[in-house]
Amino acid sequence: MLINFKKFSSIKIGNEVEVEVIDKIKKSEKFIIGKANNLLISNNPPPLAILSKKFNYIKIEDSKLHIGAMTPNGKVVSFAKKHNLANLEFLSHLPGSIGGAIKMNAGLKEYEIFNNLWGIKTEDGIIKKEDIDFGYRYSKIDGIIFEGIFEMKEGFSYERLELLKSMRKNQPKLPSAGSCFKNPKGDFAGRLIEAVGYKGKKIGGVGFSEVHANFLVNHGEGTFDDAVKIIDEVKAKVYEKFEIELEEEIIII
Ligand SMILES: Cc1cc2nc3c(=O)[nH]c(=O)nc-3n(C[C@H](O)[C@H](O)[C@H](O)COP(=O)(O)OP(=O)(O)OC[C@H]3O[C@@H](n4cnc5c(N)ncnc54)[C@H](O)[C@@H]3O)c2cc1C
Repeated sequence: MLINFKKFSSIKIGNEVEVEVIDKIKKSEKFIIGKANNLLISNNPPPLAILSKKFNYIKIEDSKLHIGAMTPNGKVVSFAKKHNLANLEFLSHLPGSIGGAIKMNAGLKEYEIFNNLWGIKTEDGIIKKEDIDFGYRYSKIDGIIFEGIFEMKEGFSYERLELLKSMRKNQPKLPSAGSCFKNPKGDFAGRLIEAVGYKGKKIGGVGFSEVHANFLVNHGEGTFDDAVKIIDEVKAKVYEKFEIELEEEIIII
């Protein structure tokens, strides 16, 4: 299928690209995309693939939650509410699919998708969490995730939902791909960006938000080249001043 990434991606950058739709469990060498909330796609990306809506499902089996990788996070939260399940509340303000969340070990503060994960289904069968190397906004999963399998614990928390909602208050409204950089150990990417004078700074149509310095936002007509230019510039400035190498959280392809 043809996907126009200027419309599809959360940062609203990219061209129209042919993307293979995968609707059964199989191996693929292509770069697999979820809902493109963490992607910055160049004008000439590598071959891409996306899972079909066949992988948008939630089932309870053997006392575990089986969630298709293309299921939107919001649907998972609604399910958790309905079935009184705990520990998935943080997904309510985290845009994307379960596959993308697992690959990124997405989360907010101490709440991360791996906390509650039991294992994943890949083309090689089930892989248990204990056999996956993962950390802050990172997992070492090479193939396609077709399903996430989660522990079930009773007790959906409306209190936690409200708390998480309030944590999101300083989130920019402009199109973005979430946090641009991972927080370096013991520091904050946003603080470093601000310290080198890049909070609110723009190149072309892309800039670091006035509201939250670590959010790279598209002011309208931002391009891939604008985004890469400002990312490289701020990394160089932060290195020059603090000798800290900022590592991108957004995936550039
Ligand atoms: C406004 C905004 C706020 C955000 N806030 C947060 C936040 O608080 N915390 C946070 O962690 N993130 C945040 N993000 C980033 C984003 O929401 C997460 O990274 C999300 O998990 C990405 O999911 P996706 O489906 O869009 O994946 P994509 O962006 O499409 O892909 C992300 C990565 O996952 C891989 N991937 C996707 N699907 C699969 C699959 N089935 N199998 C294997 N690999 C796969 C891709 O190859 C890519 O490497 C935010 C983004 C936005 C736009």
